Amino acid sequence: MSKPDLNCSFCGRPKPETNLLIAGLDSHICDRCIIQAHGIVQEENKVDDIEDVQIELKPPKEIKAFLDTYVIGQESPKRVLSVAVYNHYKRLLQSKLKNDNDSVEIQKSNVLIVGPTGTGKTLLAQTISRLLNVPLAIVDATVLTEAGYVGEDVESILSRLLQAADYDVDRAQKGIIFIDEIDKIARKGDNPSITRDVSGEGVQQALLKLLEGTTVNVPPKGGRKHPDQKFIEVDTSNILFIAGGAFDGIDSHISKRLNLQSIGYKTVQEQRNFDKENILQYITPRDVRSFGLIPEIIGRLPVLTYMNPLDKTTLREILTSPKNALVKQYVHLLAMDEIELQFTSGALDYIVDKALQYKLGARGLRSLCEAILNDAMFELPQSDTKNLKVTKQYAENKLSKIELPKLKIVS
Ligand code: ADP
Repeated sequence: MSKPDLNCSFCGRPKPETNLLIAGLDSHICDRCIIQAHGIVQEENKVDDIEDVQIELKPPKEIKAFLDTYVIGQESPKRVLSVAVYNHYKRLLQSKLKNDNDSVEIQKSNVLIVGPTGTGKTLLAQTISRLLNVPLAIVDATVLTEAGYVGEDVESILSRLLQAADYDVDRAQKGIIFIDEIDKIARKGDNPSITRDVSGEGVQQALLKLLEGTTVNVPPKGGRKHPDQKFIEVDTSNILFIAGGAFDGIDSHISKRLNLQSIGYKTVQEQRNFDKENILQYITPRDVRSFGLIPEIIGRLPVLTYMNPLDKTTLREILTSPKNALVKQYVHLLAMDEIELQFTSGALDYIVDKALQYKLGARGLRSLCEAILNDAMFELPQSDTKNLKVTKQYAENKLSKIELPKLKIVS
């Protein structure tokens, strides 16, 4: 009896059509099926495990030290965030480890950062995501609307996070979402019973579930890995939400409360002890509520912190000392053309003064440097000049050519 032709028992290909056919007890498998099976095994092994997304649980002091290398000043929010992030990822670990039902359930540590624009709120969120190596989506609350209205549904936030995670759902589910301008969806007026305004309260309501933890079907929006899939299921329970906003005018709510509190409890002398220059430091959830965030949202953003305004010393430091400080970036850029760039101390002071004078804040520093160095960066790469010393006079001269108040702020 002649030996039967050998086929792959999985795909049926005859031996001559394969590169390799491995024999088992009663069957055979070809090289292609091995590769495919290997892929399936890998996919299956991708258990929802914290180690899989390589989040290293770092203690708060280490988190803070990392933040210090990028974010100048802002001691209070850095400490508060370090603890919130630590607890958040401890919570993640616990949910992996918990076998018994009676272990204490740790609630989410979503954060609300209140502070003037350009003081580093986004930078804090970016730095934390960099430290933890988790995806980050930065979204603007002003574009969000209630489902059914013109604008983006709150689910679109998750599409962004999926994009940032390159459509790796596991990674996205342990990522960070920074919701900027949360103050812009505050309810107008302090009376909850008046109306439900589309732009404000409705969006807050829609955000609630997301913040708390829910499963959402997210349209992938251009995902490469799941081209045919209509929706991707994303669980938000382990996503850390950081919301930020300038809350313009909240000072008056805080002052009003502080003054009311003082009456009857404290003497007039004590009343004056509030630091009126930085009233934000006294913020409480109650002030955020009287500003117009609904209590449920405030409850789901339990960690509240504030940013300090940037003074001259801080701006000067922002220019030179963070790991990727602007001055270091320009020095590096020109060094790539073998040009040595230096700024005199007077020039740096001048740039900071201009940023303060025109209320350009930290974002303005970049625009100012760009305006001062643009000519040099255009001319020098093809010239014989190998040194550039930016003095106050040089900076003044370059800036005199533009109208500062019209300077476009680049972030
Ligand atoms: P916000 O989110 O509060 O409006 P950003 O985080 O976007 O402000 O800050 C704008 C830019 O200003 C950042 O990219 C960063 O370069 C700089 N910046 C602001 N605050 C700080 C800070 N405290 N330390 C270092 N850089 C800062």
